[in-house]
Amino acid sequence: MRKALTVPVLIVMCSLGFGIQMERVARARLSPVTVSAAVDYQELVAEEVLDSQQFLEYPIKPGNRLADLTPQVDALLARMTLEEKIGQMTQLEVGMVSNGKGTKTKIDPAKLQKAVVKYGVGSILNVTDECFTIDQWHEIIREIQQSAQSTRLKIPVLYGIDSIHGANYTAGSTLFPQEIGMAATWNLELMKRAAEITAMETRACGIPWNFSPVLDLGRQPLWPRFYETFGEDLYLSKAMGVATVLGYEGTNIGANDHVAACLKHYIGYSFPLTGKDRSPAWIPENYLREYFMPPFQAAIAAGAHTVMVNSGEINGVPVHASHYLLTDLLRNELGFHGMVVSDWEDIKKLVTRHRVAATEKEATRIAVLAGIDMSMVPSDYSFSDNLVALVKEGAVPLSRIDEAVARILRLKFELGLFATPMPDTSLKSKLGSAESRAVNLQAAQESITLLKNSDNLLPLARGSKVLVTGPTADSLVSLNNGWSYTWQGTNAELYPKERLTIRGAIEAKAGKQNVRYVLGSTLDKEASIAEAVDAARNADLAIVCIGEGAYAETPGNIEDLSLDDAQLKLAAAVAATGKPVVLVLVEGRPRIIRRIADDAKAILMAYNPGNEGGQAIADVLFGDYNPGGKLPFTYPRQPNALLPYDHKPYELQDTSYGNSASKPQFEFGYGLSYTTFDYSDLRIEPKTASMGAKITVSVTVKNTGRRTGNEAVQLYVRDLVASITPPGKRLKRFAKIHLEPGQSKMLKFTLHLDDLSFVGPNNKPIVEPGEFEIMIAGLGGRFTLSQAP
Ligand code: BGC
Repeated sequence: MRKALTVPVLIVMCSLGFGIQMERVARARLSPVTVSAAVDYQELVAEEVLDSQQFLEYPIKPGNRLADLTPQVDALLARMTLEEKIGQMTQLEVGMVSNGKGTKTKIDPAKLQKAVVKYGVGSILNVTDECFTIDQWHEIIREIQQSAQSTRLKIPVLYGIDSIHGANYTAGSTLFPQEIGMAATWNLELMKRAAEITAMETRACGIPWNFSPVLDLGRQPLWPRFYETFGEDLYLSKAMGVATVLGYEGTNIGANDHVAACLKHYIGYSFPLTGKDRSPAWIPENYLREYFMPPFQAAIAAGAHTVMVNSGEINGVPVHASHYLLTDLLRNELGFHGMVVSDWEDIKKLVTRHRVAATEKEATRIAVLAGIDMSMVPSDYSFSDNLVALVKEGAVPLSRIDEAVARILRLKFELGLFATPMPDTSLKSKLGSAESRAVNLQAAQESITLLKNSDNLLPLARGSKVLVTGPTADSLVSLNNGWSYTWQGTNAELYPKERLTIRGAIEAKAGKQNVRYVLGSTLDKEASIAEAVDAARNADLAIVCIGEGAYAETPGNIEDLSLDDAQLKLAAAVAATGKPVVLVLVEGRPRIIRRIADDAKAILMAYNPGNEGGQAIADVLFGDYNPGGKLPFTYPRQPNALLPYDHKPYELQDTSYGNSASKPQFEFGYGLSYTTFDYSDLRIEPKTASMGAKITVSVTVKNTGRRTGNEAVQLYVRDLVASITPPGKRLKRFAKIHLEPGQSKMLKFTLHLDDLSFVGPNNKPIVEPGEFEIMIAGLGGRFTLSQAP
């Protein structure tokens, strides 16, 4: 009997709590998720489950309303000269007001005078090659703001930075997993908490504006900024993006522990045809709206204050030159009221790269009229000079300048910069606190994704004799990737000495006497493979840590998604000894491991888990933490078989033309646990729904193993027949739950008409009646959407 209908279902938050739970888990047999037909409802524990949609529908913060600030903004604007206005629209890099590099950086008074007093620049960004200490930040920001105070109108300078996985340009900050790892946690509350800490640590430095989150979809794994994304799925990215914005901005960006978010890189940046950074994308309008727009749309609805523009071009139109994308779509359709900043040098690039303008002056006219409010120039005064001339000549109307400057001033008011331009030093002691570190460890643990575990090799017994080898085994650089202390993240000297690498964490846990470390290979060269093989023979098993080093943006371009040969050789040679091999993948994108995957007994995907990553990996390897991460992207098996999970079914199944379909190495949403989960009682109500009716889907999940575990429950919908060829399935809801052994939870998801819609041939969302399939784990069921009455 379907007693479930009478069981009250509440909404679960316990599983989303933040206390670090260092689960002491015992060795248990691992078996795949099973599906059974019935469940003992007495075992159901009524707890509150917060699913992804309830999170997305959080009451959106009130924010500081435009109306409240209009009089102040208007009054100030009325007093400004043209030059002062255009100064506000100008953003320079900090090297334009300083000398020296990293901790030796010092403000240069003459340069500062030129930038802030003569040109009245509205914004400064970044670091000089290397991170600063918090005291140095305070000094630099103070000097800049003092200079602004000496100007006629005393308009504070807006400092902006890329705190993309923590306050990554500040020594001693908390460096979280990169976005791709955060997505693998499927834990929205945790993402929000990590963003709150990042906001607090960034603001503690005196910096109120964060160029984050990246809302580009990671659907092109070659792309070197893949790790900066929340993966390939638009719904997961949308939910994670909203969580991040809520964490950064809180309910008031003027608070001393919050910052303004910057959604980037609007729009279509992540899908270049060749996979190379800043190369052309070809995205038809319906797919742009279907896949790439929703994460931005949701984050705008969540109140995000700023947007940064895609450096690339879509269908031959550079986004910086597109009035359609920057004004018609972003403002008029998506209702964005905040400020739009260009990306690095991108007005110049309209001339030098895209060649849609013959001169920089013409490029400036095009970009400003398209909708750019602030130009990240960033290393000269050409933008200001050109724009002043353009307005004087009548080529750019003053009304457009006033509009842009009003947005900039409003942001500065909302951030509280007029009232409090100087850094608030009271938060200094909170930088990198033990509490933040604990949240970071939880994030790293929850991100780790167990992809293979033959014969329950993992977790390892404490006394095992292990060989640790491979280029990512002893590297904080690999654990963090780019945007870590430096732009490229490659300077090992700058990483905190006391943080554990994978090797260090394994030695600390298993005892040095049980661990032998041999480099084996560098990222791209064989080093000591023979020695690693010898050591493997004398060990119980080998932990082979492979993957990538650090890179950011264009320098991270690659020609081949395959893992470097030297690393494949190392893994293969160690496996050939017959000793069990655990592969630990530390990488920002799925490098192809087909040649070594079958011979490995266990595979752990660590992504770029940040400064607590070494500890988290060791915790998982030795069973102190039961992994529950799930892949936020499809892990390809071959370099030329790149298909996201929401492909058209015939792409893999239709072999009628002799194509041999190739399954990915690992599927989107996949990840094992040391316990087992049983899914049952999938119910869909009603079975026939009229347009506009809500569809309720319930399912029960039980922990049938002997360990406590976390499970990301995923609900997919398939539209069986549609006028635009329908994907095989699409993620529409998820919930991260925590289950004790034997514990069950019933989850109830509500789907709306929106969840059944797609962008039709006329580029507008439509819902077509017909049959839909719901899929949760191995369970499935259908309902019919009837014609409108
Ligand atoms: C990147 C942006 C970043 C900016 C400032 C650009 O090169 O594309 O993501 O925010 O630099 O560092």
